Amino acid sequence: MVSPQSDTASEAPETPAVDVEIASQPPRPGELTFSAPRRAKPPRHLADLSAPERKKALAELGHQGFRAAQVSQHYFGHLADDPAQWTDIPAAKREELAGVLTPKLLTPINEQTADAGTTRKTLWRLFDGATVESVLMRYRDRTTMCVSSQAGCGMNCPFCATGQAGLTRNMSTGEIVEQVVAGARTMARGEVPGGPGRVSNVVFMGMGEPLANYKAVIGAVRRLTEPVPDGLGLSARHITVSTVGLVPAMEKLTNEGIPVTLAVSLHAPDDELRDTLVPVNTRWKVSEVLDAAWRYAAVTKRRVSIEYALIKDINDQAWRADRLGRMLRNKLVHVNLIPLNPTPGSKWTASRPQDEAEFVRRLQEWGVPVTVRDTRGRDIDGACGQLAAAVK
Ligand code: SAH
Repeated sequence: MVSPQSDTASEAPETPAVDVEIASQPPRPGELTFSAPRRAKPPRHLADLSAPERKKALAELGHQGFRAAQVSQHYFGHLADDPAQWTDIPAAKREELAGVLTPKLLTPINEQTADAGTTRKTLWRLFDGATVESVLMRYRDRTTMCVSSQAGCGMNCPFCATGQAGLTRNMSTGEIVEQVVAGARTMARGEVPGGPGRVSNVVFMGMGEPLANYKAVIGAVRRLTEPVPDGLGLSARHITVSTVGLVPAMEKLTNEGIPVTLAVSLHAPDDELRDTLVPVNTRWKVSEVLDAAWRYAAVTKRRVSIEYALIKDINDQAWRADRLGRMLRNKLVHVNLIPLNPTPGSKWTASRPQDEAEFVRRLQEWGVPVTVRDTRGRDIDGACGQLAAAVK
């Protein structure tokens, strides 16, 4: 559980903040929510807009169009969020431009660190009081931001903390991008042990089902990959979009022409078990999801990641490893095994070490590349499936 440190979150109970009740109902078992509840829209931010749209937006408000590129350069290039630092813009105009182009979208309400400060989980409050989390992970050779794409999630996977809380709302492109930019600022300022650095990778593996918020997520991918000052200038291949397997959206992504890495949360090779672990399997079966993944690989030439949380005595049997191996052999694929991270009240735990080792061995026998993911941030509930954004 996260303990907020800010005074806003510890207000006396008789003065409930306006933001308390934007929360979803917990779903019934197996219930799926595809469309997000309609809510007020977050303020428009330059990260929501393409470069020409920014210029137009400024012109409509009577500003000079070239200011858009200047502010964008400060936002994406210099990572300078304080308008006082925008010294190429007349002092009298800075605040107004900031109000129009870089309204505050995220307020940090708690920060927790693990792994000697190289893993940092931030709990953010959005403009309407919805809460989400992001996790920064610095490794020797790269720094990865794990971002949320929805407040909550409608996919209801029973082993995932986010899934149990239901879907509050979709996030905007600006809100998604701002999580990465915030991480980039933290890195640039040398606030993470290891000296100043940059964010090199982004994974859409925080809260939410990215392909259920397709438009905003694609907008975010575009902003993250466009060169400075239009965007953050990350490489598409360093961005991973993870999905439960929404086949029509996977097909759309295939035709998008952005070669991001696609990760598919499979967790079981057979429909009978997957129907219970990933309820959306009742809509799109294992074979349909994998076919869509292979089409993605064929078109983008990108290796698809198959995510498989190893759950003791549930999906970790040797025969399931063989079945998975047979399905994946000779494909452009990589299997990521994730030892199950415990979530509150769950009856499930991670596999025994010997069962995990046997699972790996069998996949390797089928010639399928496989790694076991390290569980960064487990002790701060920051690992896969543990993000609950609880303000308690
Ligand atoms: N909705 C997307 C992305 C978010 S979760 C998706 O499902 O792919 C990122 C990964 O963490 C997914 O593979 C998800 O199945 C996995 N995950 C969820 N809960 C987990 C848990 N308790 N332990 C390990 N992995 C988990």
